[in-house]
Amino acid sequence: MNRTAIYPGSFDPVTYGHIDLIKRAATLFDRIIVGVASNTRKQTLFNADERLVMLKETTKGIKGISIELFDGLVIKYAYKHKSHVLIRGLRVISDFDYEVQMALTNRRLDQKIETILLVPSEGYTFLSSSLIKEAASLGADISSFVPKIVEKKLKKKLSQA
Ligand code: ADP
Repeated sequence: MNRTAIYPGSFDPVTYGHIDLIKRAATLFDRIIVGVASNTRKQTLFNADERLVMLKETTKGIKGISIELFDGLVIKYAYKHKSHVLIRGLRVISDFDYEVQMALTNRRLDQKIETILLVPSEGYTFLSSSLIKEAASLGADISSFVPKIVEKKLKKKLSQA
């Protein structure tokens, strides 16, 4: 049986934390579909296509993954791919409430949906896209948190803002 899991998120922009999670998930499933939310409630710095391209460029070497844009209910998206498994990340305690709430809501919407919460490498437990954007806007060195291309695109975007 071919096991597929969906890793949905806004990835604004992708960080080493996301990439760490994708690599871990790829060892557990035959296929990981990374779903870049095109209509997120969050105000994003990068548009959906920019977020998609950065993810594609920074995950090229990882086998068994595909990256796509998606829209609407994540459970419907999962079923479209014949999957009932969602991957999400758990960093610090503050993620816990939100992620469990979301997992339970998705389960309420569909009993068969399972959410797997993966913990990243220790070094990435405090890493978030919003922190990176803030640090970059203040001129901090973010090279240990995001791949080079993301760093470049962030600098360019912030200089245009
Ligand atoms: P969303 O807007 O859906 O929360 P994000 O791109 O912020 O999208 O995050 C997608 C998922 O990746 C979330 O489950 C989040 O907890 C997880 N994640 C983000 N950064 C990290 C990290 N540094 N380590 C582990 N998981 C992370």
